[in-house]
Amino acid sequence: MTTQPSIRPDAVDHLNRAQAADDLAAVREQWGDLLAAIGRAPRAEWPPRECREWEQPPAAEDAPAVGRLPLILREHPAPLNLTALDAATTTERELFELCDVVAAAVQRPVRYIATDKHGRGRYQPDPTDRADPARWNYTSPTDPGSRAYGLHWAAVWLEGRALGEQAGELFAPVRPLLADEMASTARRARARVERALGRDGQPTALDRPCPYCRGPLTAHTRSGDPAAATVVCGTGSSCTAPVLLNGRGRREWAGAELVGLFVALEAARKQ
Ligand SMILES: [Zn+2]
Repeated sequence: MTTQPSIRPDAVDHLNRAQAADDLAAVREQWGDLLAAIGRAPRAEWPPRECREWEQPPAAEDAPAVGRLPLILREHPAPLNLTALDAATTTERELFELCDVVAAAVQRPVRYIATDKHGRGRYQPDPTDRADPARWNYTSPTDPGSRAYGLHWAAVWLEGRALGEQAGELFAPVRPLLADEMASTARRARARVERALGRDGQPTALDRPCPYCRGPLTAHTRSGDPAAATVVCGTGSSCTAPVLLNGRGRREWAGAELVGLFVALEAARKQ
């Protein structure tokens, strides 16, 4: 194999790797939410469940199931949100496959040791080396390998490789071309997960009207930050909602004001 020419400044490569690790962390941090979303019907629900700290805590079956992913994805009893299910299965498959590719490129194969202490006779894979928890183990017909630990572990492992974390001499550095592939897969995965969760910054038209003027309500979120949601009434200054007008002359709820809007929406629904 020839050495890849160094055609880009180191700084670009460094940023690329940092961005890959950042995107992978965002994927695994939102993974529990995505799994929970699979079991809920998609609709323009506001506020997002995870923002309603003034409601009851989520039931146990909604708790993030980090680490048990393959089971949950393939045997989900009632996938109600097919967009979330598709995002989860696609993301899981892509990150697992990326782990296989990266491990093939940078991970030292399992050492062989002699079966007798004098170095004669047969050689076998060193069980200690093979069981090194820093390793990515491939899947086989009889063994799911590291995939058994789920997407969360795969993402953590990839982050370590992207950032060049050492584990003895187990890993060679990831070359720039492979770092590019890791960065683009991670970026795609994060975008897919955030789109499925409605956190990609795209406004969402709510399915209930403004409780003050019956105007259309639109929720806006910031990427990766469900707590930064705002809701805007489309009517304008004639809306009597007790919040200030935004820069476009619309009533806008943000932060603690959202609690008031939620209470008003609930009251309107019960009338
Ligand atoms: Zn209004």
